[in-house]
Amino acid sequence: MTTHLAQAVRAAARLALSMAAVLVMAGGASAAPLRVVATLSTFAELVKQIGGDAVEVSYVAPPRFNPHFIEPRPSDVLKVKKADLLVHGGLDLEAWRGPILDAAGNPRVFPGQPGELDLSRGIALLEIPDQPLSRVMGDIHLYGNPHYWTNPENARIMAQAICDRLCEADPAHEPAFRRRLQAFLARLDRKIPEWRAAVAPYRGQEVVAYHNEWPYFAQFVGLKVEQFLEPKPGIPPTPRHLEFLEQYLTTRGIRAIIQPSYQPAASSQVLAQRTGATVVILAQNVGELPGTEDYFSWVDDNIRRLVEALGGPHD
Ligand SMILES: [Zn+2]
Repeated sequence: MTTHLAQAVRAAARLALSMAAVLVMAGGASAAPLRVVATLSTFAELVKQIGGDAVEVSYVAPPRFNPHFIEPRPSDVLKVKKADLLVHGGLDLEAWRGPILDAAGNPRVFPGQPGELDLSRGIALLEIPDQPLSRVMGDIHLYGNPHYWTNPENARIMAQAICDRLCEADPAHEPAFRRRLQAFLARLDRKIPEWRAAVAPYRGQEVVAYHNEWPYFAQFVGLKVEQFLEPKPGIPPTPRHLEFLEQYLTTRGIRAIIQPSYQPAASSQVLAQRTGATVVILAQNVGELPGTEDYFSWVDDNIRRLVEALGGPHD
């Protein structure tokens, strides 16, 4: 091989290699979906509603467990390690959020970074304590009630925040994200009056709940929830507290006890037997109960269950 020919072959090889690299990079940049990890299934569902195929979204807390106290698995740590964006509930919702962030060591999603989205920002929080509380008694909800995603009005705010953040992270898909946001908001606009109307015959009624996780939903449908089977958030029911509740339900003629799917139902059942109230399981998150796999079917199902427990639908 002459020197010239050898040089030409080497040059051609270099060109082919660099073109291949350019193609791989171009393909990678446009095709690789943004990796989003959400703490809860409901947040992941909202990301999916807005992100569509342009995002690859997963969640950490299985919806059939108490979201405050799950134990993340090594595979969850790995997900957070690889994430471009972490979407979480803020406040003290996920007691495991700090530890999983430490274990994953992914600076992209550390607090204050562009890869961190705290959905509680922009939400009008309820039950913010007048004075600082301590965690001495294992208390949770120290910064206000963190279960705000159960009010569909708040889904507008969360979806908007998710859309804004996805657009910043992946500007090429901004028009698609904005279109999907508008479609989601339009569907919410149609469903919200329907959901409110279903519960309207029971407006102003009081129910009790196992855990203090429904104030935002109660506000949405116009019910009162002021007493809980847990004497304090996170503390299991005691015999003494159940005696108090028996009196409370009887005196006020309370008809429904809201029970989470992931807590023992025995105390709620005893209380129901003693007072004639109905135990109703409501799902706090998307996918927690069969047939609640997307945002709208989840709210539909909760509304239907609640209305049945309160006395059935009115025409
Ligand atoms: Zn809670």
